[in-house]
Amino acid sequence: ISAIDQIKPHRICVCVRKRPLNKQEINRKEIDVVSVPGNGALLVHEPKQKVDLTKYLDNQIFHFDYSFDETTSNDLVYKYTAKPLVQSIFDGCMATCFAYGQTGSGKTHTMGGDFTGRQQNSANGIYALSAQDVFTHLNHRKYSKLDVSVYVSFFEIYNGKVYDLLNKKAKLRVLEDDRQQVQVVGLEEVYVTTPEEVIRMIQAGSACRTSGQTSANANSSRSHAVLQIVLRRNDRASTLHGKFSLVDLAGNERGTDVSSNDRSTLVETAEINRSLLALKECIRSLGKNGDHIPFRMSTLTKVLRDSFIGEKSLTCMIAMVSPGMTSCEYTMNTLRYADRVKEL
Ligand code: ADP
Ligand code: MG
Repeated sequence: ISAIDQIKPHRICVCVRKRPLNKQEINRKEIDVVSVPGNGALLVHEPKQKVDLTKYLDNQIFHFDYSFDETTSNDLVYKYTAKPLVQSIFDGCMATCFAYGQTGSGKTHTMGGDFTGRQQNSANGIYALSAQDVFTHLNHRKYSKLDVSVYVSFFEIYNGKVYDLLNKKAKLRVLEDDRQQVQVVGLEEVYVTTPEEVIRMIQAGSACRTSGQTSANANSSRSHAVLQIVLRRNDRASTLHGKFSLVDLAGNERGTDVSSNDRSTLVETAEINRSLLALKECIRSLGKNGDHIPFRMSTLTKVLRDSFIGEKSLTCMIAMVSPGMTSCEYTMNTLRYADRVKEL
């Protein structure tokens, strides 16, 4: 596929990506219970027990727009998921792309906000690939008549509060005005002219995300990170032309550990569950009349409000799954959620 003509996006695209078993998992002889037979199908061989206690594997099949197996590169995942959305914002769309799944399943690896690991995979994550394509489009003759500039913002939502990753984690307020426009007051929106600038900002923001946490327990797996690439017309009011929001969601693992008496953890978990539930409902009602979209249920959906309403809203969810048998329950939860998102 060339840089500019490509797969046409549809309104809701739901995919799943399976990561490979890692070294530790291989060392402890973890069994791979997920297989990807092709045509968007994904199989989970769920360990079960009969009444007489004999064990067996129960095969569960799911179908998605795309199912990516463990050999798939970020490049390829990008091509089928975010790339069509980058194009769409030039045509005036509001696009969102979500990385959903259990902690450790590959959300940050896919998005490319991982700057703390030994290997810097940031340069080929969806964040960086999108940034590169934005400038490719901007300079393409197809859009030569379009007079727009590119802006970037990057923030984190933790426990329902918004923190600016481009401004030392400043805590920001979310306001809804009388025309139901939602505003994150004081959010840095930085004018950018090259993909390298965007990548540097993502790098700085990601480092900011994982270090110097002000709030107790603020761990990147418990917060949502939102990178927004905004196109504004070069007119007097800097009119919004299109927006692409890329979201590395908080880990979806439930607070199943009932022994935990830690109140702040319980509050955190409740908040995450509520926002993921709200997100599912908002995607399912994408493009409908704003009144029927339950975006007020959580801060995440509130700040993404304008991406859920209107004719020109497009979304892609990439559900990440770990392959191991010990993650099976979480994997099934992730797949059931993704399955519900795609349903009409
Ligand atoms: P999450 O953000 O969902 O908690 P990470 O992206 O941090 O998970 O991934 C956990 C670990 O697994 C990291 O070390 C990451 O590099 C590795 N990993 C995740 N997905 C892949 C993949 N598709 N290929 C190779 N390694 C991966
Ligand atoms: Mg992560």
